Amino acid sequence: MKWEKLFEPIQLRRLTLPNRVMMGSMHLGMEGSKDQEEALISFYTERSGDNGPGLIVTGGISVSPEGDGGHHFLGFYREDDLRVMKRLTDSVHEANGRIAAQLFHAGRYAYSQMNGVPSVAPSPIKSPIHREVPEELTEIDILNLLESYAEAGRKAKAVGFDAVEIMGSEGYLINQFLSPRTNKRSDKWGGNFENRTRFAIEVLKSVRNAVGDDYPIIFRMSGLDLVPDSSTPEETIQLAKKLEEHEADILNIGIGWHESTVPTISMMVPRAGFIEPALKIKEAVNIPVIGSNRINDPLLAEELLYKLDMVSMARPFLADANLLAKAKGQALDQINTCIACNQACLDHAFEGKAVSCLVNPRAGREHKWTIKKADKTKTVVVIGGGVAGMEAARAHAELGHTVTLYEANAAIGGQFNLARKIPIKKEFDETIRYYTTELNRLGVQINVNHKPNADDLLAHSPDLVVLATGVVPRLPVIPGIKHAIPYPEILSGNREVGKKVVIIGAGGIGCDVSHFLIEKGIHDILLLRRNGKMGEGLGKTTKWAMLQDLKQNGVTFRTNLSYEEITPEGLKITNSETGEQEFLKADTIILAAGQESNIPEEYENLSQKGIDIAVIGGARLAGELDAKRAIYEGAKIAFEPETISVR
Ligand code: NAP
Ligand code: SF4
Repeated sequence: MKWEKLFEPIQLRRLTLPNRVMMGSMHLGMEGSKDQEEALISFYTERSGDNGPGLIVTGGISVSPEGDGGHHFLGFYREDDLRVMKRLTDSVHEANGRIAAQLFHAGRYAYSQMNGVPSVAPSPIKSPIHREVPEELTEIDILNLLESYAEAGRKAKAVGFDAVEIMGSEGYLINQFLSPRTNKRSDKWGGNFENRTRFAIEVLKSVRNAVGDDYPIIFRMSGLDLVPDSSTPEETIQLAKKLEEHEADILNIGIGWHESTVPTISMMVPRAGFIEPALKIKEAVNIPVIGSNRINDPLLAEELLYKLDMVSMARPFLADANLLAKAKGQALDQINTCIACNQACLDHAFEGKAVSCLVNPRAGREHKWTIKKADKTKTVVVIGGGVAGMEAARAHAELGHTVTLYEANAAIGGQFNLARKIPIKKEFDETIRYYTTELNRLGVQINVNHKPNADDLLAHSPDLVVLATGVVPRLPVIPGIKHAIPYPEILSGNREVGKKVVIIGAGGIGCDVSHFLIEKGIHDILLLRRNGKMGEGLGKTTKWAMLQDLKQNGVTFRTNLSYEEITPEGLKITNSETGEQEFLKADTIILAAGQESNIPEEYENLSQKGIDIAVIGGARLAGELDAKRAIYEGAKIAFEPETISVR
């Protein structure tokens, strides 16, 4: 691949960026916490350097106390946070990187209980995803805020940031001023378009005044709000022109407010599915424009850069800190691609936990999981080539150990080989491609179609055997169970499915199977569970979109019931509220009733033969198994062998 665009430098005032990729702002959940200071600095430093992103933008750093957006935040108004910022910029610069500070104010998305001061907004209107009614800003408050932005800009420059990004999208404070949905003021800060844009422009002017002429300012503006009664497409273009006129150096185009009910970055959104607004803005202005959302592949980035000046990739750098270095070195198949699952990044951030990455659990742990060859090389045998086993093999090999991997099936991948059949989960292919490449590159000996017995294992004289034998589908005790089909047989395409389907089990897999069937044109689907809600256990940031999509496709759900009998014609249930029996007719009944650990008998007694055994992933604990835990456990036994619970 000859890169024409990706590695072309770009000049922003005094700052030269060596390539066209910005690592977009992500809240890491490590900010403002003493315990996480090293983690935060190591995280950004690892992503810095000649072949790192052209520019890193920090998570939002609050310009004033009521503007913090959650549990852990950095604030320009806190002395100790300025010390951390200085350490951060020094460390990034030492690694040859470039980093911008995002000037942030959450407005009505802030939590007074966490911040200790009331939240504020242009008008006292509660967000639909929030419990608090913000206080309306007075004229004096607004002028003070402009000074806070200016002060934040001055401090950002003083502590060594290379640029600032003014956060004006995603429904935060500046966006709240811009939109008629949230700005109902009748003074000069609200009403017509001119007045609603006043705050954004005044912020830009005050920051410019504070940082001087040679300092780059990125303005992150919303290209598409995706909420009712908000700014029009014409207003969005006009705003971009005004920002250009008032000396923004580059426009970074955000998509969707946090309260929007349209998925914008989940796996179900096609790659670069929301690039249109950035292209429209690019046509209207003469300053550079950055496109974002679901750009997870350097080839796609290169293609987009024929129409845009930069692309923003945020989560892809969680998944692979060396993404661009690998692209430059023509090692695209070695890239650990972000699969847009949100499970270890956004879901963690919303829960107030430090973010990591499902496919790269080292993200956020760089300070303690250092990659250096082990002093003593171990011989490690991994049984099971699902994600837990693949990661255990990969991580041990990366640390210099000698690794053999056994997989009973014809290909490695485990449950991911099933998941990749779900139409919205095609990205899982990338994870299997990554592991296949990496295991080969690192010299792991892979034996497929092979279930080793105890003697096979002893022949390796292993120091450690990792049992990653995964799970088997649970077969509940229901009369006539033989008439139901376990989900793996459906997903592997081995069984015919009728028009009317009942699925026993409404967790993540029940939902996945429904998506699989919808794609095949089957819409009469009833998801059942005995108690609880549909899709329980799915992450906060994806569950709503997934359930919304299923409902729109006619999938129905029932709960509070017990299963009495399965027949070739359907399923007899008892309604637990009324005690009445019902017969649910179905052409096909599918079992998605969870899993049980799979540890074949021949491995049960291995530890008695004096071999260290570690059991990980679904084999260790089938309940609440998900890929995040499986991959994490695979990495953890390699990086923290002392924590292995050997059995
Ligand atoms: P799950 O989420 O635990 O759901 C299992 C379902 O089976 C529940 O609806 C449960 O409902 C039912 N069930 C359990 N025992 C049963 C029994 N004895 N008889 C009848 N029904 C029974 O498991 P899963 O759907 O197999 O998913 C496995 C894991 O992968 C979960 O942690 C899940 O979150 C994760 N996953 C995640 C995604 C994702 O996109 N993030 C996708 C797929 C799976 P009742 O007990 O109420 O009847
Ligand atoms: Fe991407 Fe999922 Fe990793 Fe988040 S957790 S960075 S969405 S792969």
